[in-house]
Amino acid sequence: MTERATARELLARYLRQRAELGQRELYLERSTNAELLGRLRAPSARGVARETRRPAVELPAVQEAARAEAPAAADRFERLRAEILGCTRCRLAEGRTTVVFGEGDRDADLLVVGEAPGYEEDRQGRPFVGPAGKLLDKMLAAIGFRRDEVFICNVLKCRPPENRDPVADEVAVCRPYLRQQVELVAPKAICAFGRFAAQTLLASEASLGRLRGARHEFMGIPVVVTYHPAALLRNQQWKRPAWEDLKLLRRIYDEAGGRAPVGGRG
Ligand code: URA
Repeated sequence: MTERATARELLARYLRQRAELGQRELYLERSTNAELLGRLRAPSARGVARETRRPAVELPAVQEAARAEAPAAADRFERLRAEILGCTRCRLAEGRTTVVFGEGDRDADLLVVGEAPGYEEDRQGRPFVGPAGKLLDKMLAAIGFRRDEVFICNVLKCRPPENRDPVADEVAVCRPYLRQQVELVAPKAICAFGRFAAQTLLASEASLGRLRGARHEFMGIPVVVTYHPAALLRNQQWKRPAWEDLKLLRRIYDEAGGRAPVGGRG
């Protein structure tokens, strides 16, 4: 790659990252992100030459900004974790053993969303570590992902007593936490496992049967809905449609530019 092509690629990557984090404007000379990216995409645009003619000045500035951004995002992530771990905004705080923030790669391109911690998750403070979690790992492996290559979290961060269904006010209190996790991980695709995750992300009351098998969006990120692994353990006949959903997820993930996973079998 020539120096100019490298500079262009770096700058485009940086601007895309800023846009994914919600920054719509970047004041670089007098250009907006859209104008600059437009010029960068046009192969023979003279504007590109103008913008990249001074790599000695602009390239370090871009690298500097990208480098400065990484600790800031890590800080925000850790601040959010601390806030969630100390949350007492709803009745579930009283009965929990631990808060289950979520785990995995915080830079993952795939975000997995479940319903709420169960007994084992509440005990260990980790998502999907009981029998449903073992099946989740296999489902991820079937489309090529190791568990530690994705970020896994739940709609609710605390266990509802006796694993009862989440109630509306609990979901309402926890939903902003999920939004912030999505914003900070900035995945290329999201998989919602089960009705609660799907309905919460999509702000819909439709049944899982109506939501699965299609591409949806949350905060501009593609979402695929499938059966919750706990439901699959009880209903073998849903394994085939779940497999179709997972293949759809992988296709959408690839199309969205998700990094090729290294783990799993798929
Ligand atoms: N079921 C979920 O939805 N999430 C977990 O973390 C465990 C079981």
